[in-house]
Amino acid sequence: MTSESSGPRTPHHFEDCPECDGDLEYQTQSDAMCQDCEAVFIHEIRTSRHLLWRFTHEDGLTEVVARAE
Ligand SMILES: [Zn+2]
Repeated sequence: MTSESSGPRTPHHFEDCPECDGDLEYQTQSDAMCQDCEAVFIHEIRTSRHLLWRFTHEDGLTEVVARAE
């Protein structure tokens, strides 16, 4: 996992699919889809952290698969 240790806080984006390391493509600011395995994720931005939820049409938001401060 990469991290930037200094500099101003910039909008965080999860760029790699947690399931296959493919490239995530953002449909909107919060909706991302993996270009390789077509897994769908929702990027939830909270006050001071970012959560990446796995989304399925059957179950909706299922679990947090990645997080960042
Ligand atoms: Zn993937």
